[in-house]
Amino acid sequence: MRRFFHAAERSLSLSLFREAERLVENFYRLKTGGVREHRYDVKTLVDLKEHEMSDRAFAHLCRYRYHKENREDHPGNFSFFSICLQDDRIIDAIERSRPFVRLIPLVFYIATHELVHIVRFATGESDFEAPQDERIREEEQVDVITRKILRPVADSNLGIVLDCFDDRYHIGDVFTHGDYSALT
Ligand SMILES: [Zn+2]
Repeated sequence: MRRFFHAAERSLSLSLFREAERLVENFYRLKTGGVREHRYDVKTLVDLKEHEMSDRAFAHLCRYRYHKENREDHPGNFSFFSICLQDDRIIDAIERSRPFVRLIPLVFYIATHELVHIVRFATGESDFEAPQDERIREEEQVDVITRKILRPVADSNLGIVLDCFDDRYHIGDVFTHGDYSALT
């Protein structure tokens, strides 16, 4: 049976993305709100469609394309990303490593990781449609950048998360975006 965040956990998790945005914007020297210009939303399990769920990842990143007036060549068309948090996988990881890994630092880590992906995909630094071997390299690269961003600001709880999910616990196994969704 799937387990969902409580209302307070859900709103807390969503609010952490605002904080992570600021760090990612500083790192990439974007202006305030610069990450959001790449259009993304964050959903938790209660709002996910079947294809947005993943049993293998903490978050599943989907990319959608909006076709204005149903026309593929409409100048108003745009792409947007959905970061789909998998409540049950996150709750499970916290329970397995209780009392060391906590919700706030773990979701903060996931948020930063996902926002780095979005900046890289949106700016063309990385290819959303890349083949599997490139995706593995992308995961490694994103993990390196995420650590660069978070280490300097990490308190002891965030430090534990960074220590727990290091190279020995291969990050590609945690953030599997194996089925990137490019829906039209
Ligand atoms: Zn990732």
